[in-house]
Amino acid sequence: MGKSLIFNIQRYSLHDGMGIRTIIFLKGCPLFCPWCSNPESQGPVKPIVWEKKGIKETLGKWMTVDEVLEEVLKDHIFFRTSKGGVTLSGGEPLLQIDFVKDLLKELKDLGIHTAMETTGCMDIKRIKTILPYLDQILFDLKFMNPEQSKSIIGADIHTIKENFKLAWLSKKTKVIPRIPLIPGFTSKKENLMEIIEFLKEFKVPEVHILPFHQYGNNKYEYLNREYTMKSKETLTFEEITSIKNLFQHSGISANVDGLE
Ligand code: SF4
Repeated sequence: MGKSLIFNIQRYSLHDGMGIRTIIFLKGCPLFCPWCSNPESQGPVKPIVWEKKGIKETLGKWMTVDEVLEEVLKDHIFFRTSKGGVTLSGGEPLLQIDFVKDLLKELKDLGIHTAMETTGCMDIKRIKTILPYLDQILFDLKFMNPEQSKSIIGADIHTIKENFKLAWLSKKTKVIPRIPLIPGFTSKKENLMEIIEFLKEFKVPEVHILPFHQYGNNKYEYLNREYTMKSKETLTFEEITSIKNLFQHSGISANVDGLE
């Protein structure tokens, strides 16, 4: 079994899936969303160096499946009592598909609930090989317009739709669409209506909406990169409520950040 490049393992998370979870952040993402709160994960599967308060730090550690399992199993008892488990995040986990498949298989053998966050932006064969070992997918949907998707985040919307359809129709894996609400980008009514139309085709009953925040702000400084979203305001409570209503009027329940 090979190794995977991991840039963070976060224990005791109450987000990104049910119950208490351990989140494994895999390095590497082919997309370039301007609002990315994990910019250290972007680009190829290679360690990256950033400078924090004058101290250089290399991010990314090559780990075997056994090493990751050792870390994960520390919280096995919490998974059982809270109906939690492990969530793979990134970056884009599909980039390191062989490792992801091996890890998911082992987790399922141990009876641990598995979830993965994905943009679904890669060849459909990848997602197909892991669906049998995945209990839940948190599936990002950002833009439906092909040109916007390509030029703003670098994603081919046809591939994303294909991946979504395959995962949804598998029935075995629960798919929850997640929509980041980015002012001036994804939160435009026209875009949201296109997302709703797409979801209606599959009779999707619920989505999670993730309002824009500035949490990743400092990381761009550490990486010596320009953060173009610096002056972007977060959405107001009224704006978020009206977006929730947009979904609800179409028969889709919308949970903010998956917390409701
Ligand atoms: S898909 Fe996620 S990790 Fe990749 S650039 Fe966009 S926000 Fe960042």
